[in-house]
Amino acid sequence: MYRNSTCGKLRLADVNKEVTLAGWVSKIRKMGGMTFIDLRDRYGITQLSFNQEVNSVLCEQANKLGREWVIQVTGTVKERTSKNPHIPTGDIEIITSKLTVLNPSKTPPFTIEADTDGGDELRMKYRYLDLRRNVVRQNLELRHRMAFETRRYLDEREFLEVETPILIGSTPEGARDFIVPSRMNPGEFYALPQSPQLFKQLLMVSGFDRYFQIVKCFRDEDLRADRQPEFTQIDCEMSFVEQEDVLHTFEGLTKHLFKAIKGIDISDFPRISYADAMKQYGSDKPDTRFGMKLKELKELTTGHDFVVFDSAEYVGAICATGCASYTRKEVDQLTDFVKRPQIGAKGLIYVRYNEDGSLKSSVDKFYSEEDLKEWAERCNAKPGDLLLILAGEPEKTQKQLCELRLEMGSRLGLRDKDTYKCLWVVDFPLLEKDEELDRFFAKHHPFTSPKPEDIPLLDTDPGAVRANAYDLVINGVEIGGGSIRIHDSGLQKRMFSVLGFTEERAQEQFGFLMNAFQYGAPPHGGIAFGLDRFVSIFAGLDSIRDCIAFPKNNAGRDVMIDAPSKVEQEQLDELGIQLKPQEKNQ
Ligand code: ASP
Repeated sequence: MYRNSTCGKLRLADVNKEVTLAGWVSKIRKMGGMTFIDLRDRYGITQLSFNQEVNSVLCEQANKLGREWVIQVTGTVKERTSKNPHIPTGDIEIITSKLTVLNPSKTPPFTIEADTDGGDELRMKYRYLDLRRNVVRQNLELRHRMAFETRRYLDEREFLEVETPILIGSTPEGARDFIVPSRMNPGEFYALPQSPQLFKQLLMVSGFDRYFQIVKCFRDEDLRADRQPEFTQIDCEMSFVEQEDVLHTFEGLTKHLFKAIKGIDISDFPRISYADAMKQYGSDKPDTRFGMKLKELKELTTGHDFVVFDSAEYVGAICATGCASYTRKEVDQLTDFVKRPQIGAKGLIYVRYNEDGSLKSSVDKFYSEEDLKEWAERCNAKPGDLLLILAGEPEKTQKQLCELRLEMGSRLGLRDKDTYKCLWVVDFPLLEKDEELDRFFAKHHPFTSPKPEDIPLLDTDPGAVRANAYDLVINGVEIGGGSIRIHDSGLQKRMFSVLGFTEERAQEQFGFLMNAFQYGAPPHGGIAFGLDRFVSIFAGLDSIRDCIAFPKNNAGRDVMIDAPSKVEQEQLDELGIQLKPQEKNQ
């Protein structure tokens, strides 16, 4: 054994014990005839002390060490004279009697500390060093505990963890597939699973009844802070359940995780329909840590010769509490914010409800103070508040107001990371129309069941059909989503036809599922939680990358192992793949 204790373990109760520790040199300090070393391992930091007068050879040896060298020391635990209250081992130190260098280290390219001097790209290139930093390792420890508690909770409820294949065919979750050429089947490709959706449904046909898997999924999408090309789902499916049963079980899992990991009791989760979420928040994943709901002003604003409002189908406002005193510059900043291309508003109208009760707006030319008062009342505004108004096409404008609401929520400090608001969004539309292509797509995926009472609308008004589909949202982040599935092969066929699949194509792509459904498919439904997002929320992180051991950068690259990379011509030949000239392998 290289050690009989760890750098996080020793306390005053261990004084006078002889111990052997092993770890990395984190810091070396020389003070007079003394040398102090902070020795680090996964469990913490322990101070080693060397006294020039008592053992000059050993002290000289210590003085020659460098940062991140791996050493082994033996010594006696002693109470420190100057204690460090910031670390759990701060009351003691080791009076070293033996020092062995296990491995020297090059000087690391950045400091291995919470406040490191390393930039993002550099830390990613040397991720194995970045992972030595406490703050990063703690995120992975949290991730482990969440996965572990998830397994415990589901295991106690008869869920079986079943692995499903990675080399499969396309799964329609709405993203682009990653594909893998097959050497043994020239000209043919596997697709990596966007989710195990089809397999978990087949497991229900097999009678597995309750399935889960903590599983990698792959989607070739443009990356954002909350997206990685490969990510992890807590994927689940249950038989003989209705929507209520699934919501109950996974509300239970969420509460269990909050309690077990953070010690927080979360009360029952409110529910909101998709339609109401869009109307009140302009989003299907509303951040409900604060109010500031969207209010419609259209009929109050029409008929005053203000073309912007008159020609708009929708006029909506939010009320920013206490912001009437915003300066011109602050309002201009907000205008610039909504005009950014990512948001795309043409302009921003404001009404100040001054402390003295007077109202002043950027459209005073068209509206009297009485008119403005009516708007203020609609928005439940009080003197001191500021109304921010956008107009245009309803869905677009609601989404823009949503962005503005979130921005104002952040500015006003209403989005505290330690406050958690969970919410179910239910009654999603079954279909979504792509106006350009003039065809419907599944909003969730094509196996989602319509609400039985809406089935007749499939023929007359498909856009109005609601689904038995639900999302779990925490603090404005979509943590998970699922649905009750279609288990009737006739209805599934009908769904494919609404989605524009010919019978042949449906058979080609999903024939195995429809066939399986003819052999006694039980009613079933499920859900999948994004583990990376869930951990980020618990850790208060802005990006899911920080809770993934080896993440990709925004260009989908692993800069540490330098992937993706070119391959040998021989490999391409074996696969029968010819690259276009500009992509040639040279
Ligand atoms: N497969 C779905 C997804 O990845 C989740 C589900 O419907 O269970 O979003």
